[in-house]
Amino acid sequence: MTGEEGLGKTALPPLLNTAIVRRMKTLTCDLCDTEFSAETFEEWMAQVNAHYNIAHISTIEDTKDQSQQEAMFWMMRQMERWSEAQDKAVN
Ligand SMILES: [Zn+2]
Repeated sequence: MTGEEGLGKTALPPLLNTAIVRRMKTLTCDLCDTEFSAETFEEWMAQVNAHYNIAHISTIEDTKDQSQQEAMFWMMRQMERWSEAQDKAVN
């Protein structure tokens, strides 16, 4: 019996659970009420893009011919919504 082996199997120290408090924002899709939570705008945008491909495929089709400027405006509008969204701490 070595005793050392038992130590390796102890539960994670409680600090590890509380130290990782991540700042998340929750923001809905701009076309429906589906909510997405992410730490950064890029992460949020990736989730919305994936959601668009499933839920708003017709909108993507409709905007295929939009100019780069229009696409830019759309992105800026999303960034604005993101910056206005409330930070919230989650465990
Ligand atoms: Zn949506």
